Amino acid sequence: LVGKFAPFRSTIFAEMTALAHRTGAINLGQGFPDSDGPPELLSAAAEAVLSGHNQYPPLPGVPALRTAIAEQRAADYGTPYDPDTEILVTAGATEAIAAAVAALVPAGDEVLVFEPYYDSYGAAIALAGAVRRTVRLHPVGDRFTFDPGELAAAVTPRTRAFLVNTPHNPTGTVLSAAELAVIAEICERHDLIAITDEVYEHLVFDGVRHIPLASLPGMASRTLTISSAGKTFNATGWKVGWVCGPAPMVAAVRTVKQYLTFAGGTPFQHAVAAVLPDRHRWLDGLRTRLTAARDTLRDALTSTGWRCFACQGTYFLQVDARSVGYGDGTALCHDLATRAGVVAIPSGAFYADPASGRELVRFAFCKSPAVIATAAGRLAGFAAGAHREGAA
Ligand code: PMP
Ligand code: GLN
Repeated sequence: LVGKFAPFRSTIFAEMTALAHRTGAINLGQGFPDSDGPPELLSAAAEAVLSGHNQYPPLPGVPALRTAIAEQRAADYGTPYDPDTEILVTAGATEAIAAAVAALVPAGDEVLVFEPYYDSYGAAIALAGAVRRTVRLHPVGDRFTFDPGELAAAVTPRTRAFLVNTPHNPTGTVLSAAELAVIAEICERHDLIAITDEVYEHLVFDGVRHIPLASLPGMASRTLTISSAGKTFNATGWKVGWVCGPAPMVAAVRTVKQYLTFAGGTPFQHAVAAVLPDRHRWLDGLRTRLTAARDTLRDALTSTGWRCFACQGTYFLQVDARSVGYGDGTALCHDLATRAGVVAIPSGAFYADPASGRELVRFAFCKSPAVIATAAGRLAGFAAGAHREGAA
């Protein structure tokens, strides 16, 4: 590999999906659903293509979609946004994150992130010439959270922004009102911009509520909130995301975005606009199915000796590789693919130094009941074999 980004290599998701193809294993690695979103979404997209919505959309996004987003955020969270100046549609959340960091963090200044963090954050910060500062999430009981003292100690005079992800990939933590209040206080005290990645905002379980940081007192004026229709409507390949925030911050992101992709996905934007107002029935069903999948997988794992961490949201379940006799999650993932027929993600990929998360492995459970049941059976059998070998 050549070039400045050679150290980033290929993403762990591409690598593990290729491993699944090579081995024929069930792919619980890269997080994408194995079924489509609501039929109305698909027919709206087909209709948009056939009725001539195939040229560039306006730079900020199709007006009907921005209006639907404004209505959704006001209804769900009580946060008002002007569709004309405070909402920008992007090529997925990924572009929104990269453009936001590039637009708002001067080269050499620091971005705080909780670690583990989604892999594109490190690359987005590097692209901007900014500096990553990490604050570790630790398991307290079986749930990952941060230590407020460690967070306070991580801020320096060069810290400009806090990139926060809730519901959190890969830990499955949904930040509570109290945790968000600590984050808000830090942002206000040090005059930080908050960039919140809320792509799993609707995928929360067991009555846990997702709270946008922007909805906390005083935070709307300093927070950019990022969403993804890919996660909300099982359409990860469409790459329709958006940013909501104060007009000057959104204008800054728009300026960068116009030179990354300008704009795209016109028919998909129309389709998302058509279904966003009727999201509740789809999302209720999706949460019910994901809860069942999580429970099937978790029950099979815990009953055979795997240690699972709490999963309050997202579609990821993390486990401790040591519970099945492995000190190294990468070695476990290799053996799972070849011996159990299941691909997972070694969570070390979500750490600046992979050694820091080497004992963790992540399973994606956004799959059909039959696929989850088969994978759960294989993983239970693998654990039984691992324990037998350990005992021998
Ligand atoms: N943020 C997180 C936490 C994610 O897990 C993902 C994965 N899709 C993204 C952002 C990227 O979203 P999109 O596909 O809309 O670019
Ligand atoms: N967000 C997805 C995950 O965490 C992966 C997206 C990608 O392949 N880059 O699994």
